[in-house]
Amino acid sequence: MTEAAPAAGKPAILLVEDDVITRRLIARQLRRAGYAVEEATDGVEALERIREKFFPILITDWEMPQMDGPTLCRKVRELELEGYVYSLLLTARQGKEHLIEGLEAGADDYLTKPPHEPELMARLKTGARIVALEQSLRAANERNRKLSITDALTGAYNRRYFNEQLPAEIERCRRYQHPLSIVMGDIDFFKKINDGYGHGAGDEVLGQFVQLTKRSIRATSDWIARYGGEEFVIVMPETGHAGALQATEKVRAAIAADPFATAAGGIPVTASFGVATLLPNGEGGGQTIDQLIAAADARLYASKHGGRNRVTGE
Ligand SMILES: [Mg+2]
Repeated sequence: MTEAAPAAGKPAILLVEDDVITRRLIARQLRRAGYAVEEATDGVEALERIREKFFPILITDWEMPQMDGPTLCRKVRELELEGYVYSLLLTARQGKEHLIEGLEAGADDYLTKPPHEPELMARLKTGARIVALEQSLRAANERNRKLSITDALTGAYNRRYFNEQLPAEIERCRRYQHPLSIVMGDIDFFKKINDGYGHGAGDEVLGQFVQLTKRSIRATSDWIARYGGEEFVIVMPETGHAGALQATEKVRAAIAADPFATAAGGIPVTASFGVATLLPNGEGGGQTIDQLIAAADARLYASKHGGRNRVTGE
C-alpha cells in the first residue's frame, strides 16, 4: 500500500499508543492525510523521543504501561523545547472528571477511542493552526529581539546589548577561570571622511568597518558592538592579552589593507585600537567593568596620540 509523502507545512506528529492494532490504524490514517508520523509505545519511550527531536503535535493514549498519557503531557510541559507541543489525549473513558484531569495535566484536547477519522482530522487541523500561530509569534518575537539589540546602520550590536551582555560574559569567564579581553576601536579621521565624501559615504564606511571586523574575529564567540559614533567595542571571551593583541592586529590590518569601495569612490580607512584584559582571580582579577572599559579606552587614545592605525595593549 502506498502512502502519501508528508505534505510540506504539516506539523510532525508523535503518536503514542501501547496497543499495536490501534496505533497502526491511527498512524495509517494520519499518513494518508499527509502527516509525518513517528510512533512510540508508551510515555517513557515518547519522552525520550521528544528530548531528541521536536514534535509540534503529540497524540497520546491515556492508559499505557510505565507512564500514562496525562503524566507524559505533564512532563512534556516541564521540558524546555523549541516550541509549543499541541497535545491530544485519546481515552476510552467518558467521565467529565476524567477529561478534566487530562486537560489539567496539560493536554490541549481529547478524543474518545476509537477515534472517528474525520473528527480526528478536524481536531488536528485546529491543533496545526495553533502550532502555526505559535511559531509565527515566536518568529516575530525573535525578529523584534534582534532589532532591539542591533545597531540598524552597521548591523553591529548596539550599546544596550553591550551593557547587558558584557557583565554576563565576564561572569561566565570568571566561573570557568578564563580571561576575557575587550578592544575599543575608533575609525581614524572619521569627521574628514564625512566632510570630504558626504555622510552617505560615512555611513557606508561604518557598515563596512563592522563587516570587515566580523570577518576577522572568531564568529562563534567574539562580537562587536557600536559604542557610539565611530567608536566600536569588540568583546573576546576566553581570550588572554597576547591572543587579543594578535586578533586585533588582524582586524587593524584588514581595515587598512584596501580602500573601502563606496558610492562616493574608494576611501582609504584606518582605525586605532586599545586592548584590555580581565584575568580570572589573578592580576587584574579585581577590576570592575568600568575599569576594564577605561583601560581599553586609555589605550585607544594612546594609539591615537601615537600616530593612529595601530594597536596598543599597555
Ligand atoms: Mg492503552
